[in-house]
Amino acid sequence: MRNMLPLLKKTDFPAIKRARMHTLQVNLGYLCNQTCFHCHVNAGPNRKELMDEANINLLIQLMEVSGIKTLDLTGGAPEMNPHFRKLVLAARKLKINVIDRCNLTILQEPGYAWLAEFLADNKVEVAASLPCYLEDNVNAQRGDGVFQTSIEGIKKLNALGYAAEGSKLTLNLVYNPQGINLPPSQQELETAYKKELLHRYDIHFNELFTITNQPIARFGSTLVSKGLFDEYMALLKDNFQQANVKGVMCRTLISIDWQGYVYDCDFNQMLGLPAPIEGEEKLHIAQLIAQEELETTLHQGLAGQPITIMDHCYACTAGQGSSCGGAL
Ligand code: SF4
Ligand code: SF4
Repeated sequence: MRNMLPLLKKTDFPAIKRARMHTLQVNLGYLCNQTCFHCHVNAGPNRKELMDEANINLLIQLMEVSGIKTLDLTGGAPEMNPHFRKLVLAARKLKINVIDRCNLTILQEPGYAWLAEFLADNKVEVAASLPCYLEDNVNAQRGDGVFQTSIEGIKKLNALGYAAEGSKLTLNLVYNPQGINLPPSQQELETAYKKELLHRYDIHFNELFTITNQPIARFGSTLVSKGLFDEYMALLKDNFQQANVKGVMCRTLISIDWQGYVYDCDFNQMLGLPAPIEGEEKLHIAQLIAQEELETTLHQGLAGQPITIMDHCYACTAGQGSSCGGAL
């Protein structure tokens, strides 16, 4: 894959600093039961990179001292990490809200019959990618048969109470656009998804999150090879909204890679740009826990620390704004 850094480095994106941190986002590894064409971590069944138990234990220590409110788990398929259950149970014991970025098909995989009930029993919030309510579009992006298996996965979660009226079990769906467009209005698309999915498949979900494609990883390389990179960057910059800057997700989260290193967000993680916290070049979670001066910083929620910005940050502020929780 092409190195996107030279194209993104020279930026006029406004400098941003951290607010108080409330979310710990963790990539548990690149192992996945799917091999989606657009995957930004190139995950798949043959990947060996998985967070080990030593780093899982450090995360648990970090959750104990940092006072975070949300643990956001991603991958690959995060549930395929053998320590997934240990981490979730530890977080729930601390009354931390857990989000599982679930690909839905994993719920139907042999060996994962436990998963749906485990998520429901522990009130884990599920965020699941479903880039369209039309079968052909989803299969083209995520692989043959993925749409139907995803629908079966949603039905399984609905049967356990996910997205039922009055239920505390939350199922959110995630949409990102095809091609070089910004996402349409989140509210209008959510209404259309709800109507179509109910009518066609009798399934329910809570909210739809629209996410703007980042000009990095495989999407970024494709833009460059098709000669569309400058056009897409111009679209992002032309639609810059100053009001979105204060809401970008890196101000309130840290992102941890499968080896335990700290980044400002998942996108900077994929670009290999570590968080410049306390001037460290590459900070490990063990340092966040162990170093006295950093512990003080951690108790203050990292507020005031700088964030590494480049041109890809414009994807977070264009139009209605974009984050892992959808429009800003
Ligand atoms: S399900 Fe997600 S992590 Fe797995 S290959 Fe697809 S995009 Fe990548
Ligand atoms: S790309 Fe990352 S660092 Fe840049 S604004 Fe978005 S969340 Fe923040």
